[in-house]
Amino acid sequence: MSTPDATAMHRPYRFAFTWSMLLVVSVLLLGVLASLLWLGYRNEMSDRNAQVITDTLWAKQSIEFQLRRHAETLRGLAQGIERGQVAPADLSAKLRALIGSNHEIERVVWMDDAGRALAAEGNYPSGAVAPAERALAADVLQRRRELYGDVAVSNHPQVLRFAVPILGDRPGALVLTYSLEGLLNELVPWWLARENQVTLANAFGEPLVVHAAASPARGNFTHQTPIDMPGAGMMLMTDSVQDTPRILPHVMSGMVAALTLTLIGSLVLLWRDMRRRAQAEARLSEELAFRQAMEDSLVTGLRARDLTGKVTYVNPGFCKMVGFEPEEMIGHSYPMPFYDPVKIPAIRERFAQMLAGTITSQGHETEFVHRDGHRVHVLIHETPLLDAKGRQTGWMSSILDITERRKVEELNRQQQEKLQASSRLVTMGEVATTLSHELNQPLSAIMSYAAGSLNLVRDEESSLRDALCKIQQQAQRAGQIIRAVHDFVRRRDPRKSLCRIADVFDATLPLIQLQARKWHIRVECAVGDDLPSVEADAMMLEQVLLNLTRNGIESMSSLPSERKLLQLSARRAGEGIEVAVIDHGLGIAEELAQQLFTPFFTTKPEGMGMGLNICRTAIEFHRGHLWYEPTPGGGATFRFTLQ
Ligand code: ADP
Repeated sequence: MSTPDATAMHRPYRFAFTWSMLLVVSVLLLGVLASLLWLGYRNEMSDRNAQVITDTLWAKQSIEFQLRRHAETLRGLAQGIERGQVAPADLSAKLRALIGSNHEIERVVWMDDAGRALAAEGNYPSGAVAPAERALAADVLQRRRELYGDVAVSNHPQVLRFAVPILGDRPGALVLTYSLEGLLNELVPWWLARENQVTLANAFGEPLVVHAAASPARGNFTHQTPIDMPGAGMMLMTDSVQDTPRILPHVMSGMVAALTLTLIGSLVLLWRDMRRRAQAEARLSEELAFRQAMEDSLVTGLRARDLTGKVTYVNPGFCKMVGFEPEEMIGHSYPMPFYDPVKIPAIRERFAQMLAGTITSQGHETEFVHRDGHRVHVLIHETPLLDAKGRQTGWMSSILDITERRKVEELNRQQQEKLQASSRLVTMGEVATTLSHELNQPLSAIMSYAAGSLNLVRDEESSLRDALCKIQQQAQRAGQIIRAVHDFVRRRDPRKSLCRIADVFDATLPLIQLQARKWHIRVECAVGDDLPSVEADAMMLEQVLLNLTRNGIESMSSLPSERKLLQLSARRAGEGIEVAVIDHGLGIAEELAQQLFTPFFTTKPEGMGMGLNICRTAIEFHRGHLWYEPTPGGGATFRFTLQ
């Protein structure tokens, strides 16, 4: 099976092939039709030519037959005269009968050898024998054979003479004169004369008499043939009134040609139309592909529902948002699998509003539950879905995933709260400073009075002395506490001095152990002997150690006792020292490790998220470096270096 792309690619070739075949067939059809018409035309031409030839030969035969018949008659009469069986009076009677029944014969004369007319019948208006008759008679008598007289163009009216010699003891000749016009009128059949112009011409083809046809001759179909006569040459020429046949003579042929042309025309039109359609189709599929690509790349979810609330369409963005396949949603109605069960009453109410058409176009926020269980905060806008005629066919929803936006808002809110908390802390610090300042004087007074009283009290009053000593000690302790608080909250400039890391450890260990004991956590401390002293603010280092150990202790607080071990170590690293605080607690997820040192980053409900940030600043102040690495087997290790 070919892919849709391949089909689309082959379509133009198939299309072009079909159309070229159709065009070839049409051209062939037209060719066959044209040859048929041409053959028909040729046949018609040769038929008409043959017809003219046949007609001409027919006329020639008819004329020659008649001339021979008359020659026969004249010959018989001449023999009768020779034998003395025909007297001039008899001859006249016979000639009259002959002329009467053959109108082409104009006259007949019997002349003796001296050229005198012994008997003459026919058209002799002046009664005289024409010199040409006389000459022809003398000629035949001399040659002793019958002859036709020569026909001349100027001879008017056009006549043809035939003479038969009379030999024996009364020599002479019989001369018969034909009217050429009579010959044509009498001897050319009527049907032939109607279709053809018939001409008698001399031996050179010069016309002597012309017998016009019913309509004018065209000169398209002509034929000429000699008429065989001893002594005179004559030509019979015919010219048909017929026009050349037309190439499209028949209505049928015309119709077929017209139909073929119409067919070719409509094929061309159809081809153009199909081409336009194919182009439009290609444009449409491009447009569709573009829209599909747009839809697929949309991060906004799109969902269409019909008027009954059934889902009719979902785009890939929506499927990704809720984790369901289109077929799991299309055709389904309320409630959908991604609805939050808690929110179903509200969704139901909104669904009813939507079906009733009373829903507003303002967006509303809700939560979907993704197939994998995580919640997706969404903003939904519903708009009516209209068809091409403007009728509502359903509802279109655009769904925006605003989970991230909500998270950022929440983070902002938390940070605001933390800022407020820290500003409260600052205030508290200031209050503490003021208090410690104010309490210092009364405490010093108490101590002075206690010292004075001790000097006054005698040795034997030891119980009073003890009490006064305790008052003095407690007052001193209170003073230390106040100083410690004051030192802690007071903003003071760091003071660097040469100090040993072992001293810093010693100072902080009691506090660390105090916290660790609360959660039954063991503390191990390993400080190398060869460590150099460093230029540092011992108090800042103590704060760093306290912070790091507190985090470690908190992360192990809920674990089984075998993992509750906090390890502190200090070892030489090059010119300086590397300190490590190692716990075996919950550890830190990889994605959170990036943000550890960010201000206000915390995972604890009551945390500030400032501890690590302050530690890093403090270590960097000592030109050192603080970093995190996971403890092998679970837990977190923080290391810092000091120069
Ligand atoms: P806070 O302790 O107030 O949350 P910190 O900056 O000290 O602020 O710590 C930031 C976060 O780093 C903590 O909320 C905790 O999630 C994580 N963290 C720090 N130290 C450890 C540790 N040792 N084990 C596990 N998590 C730790």
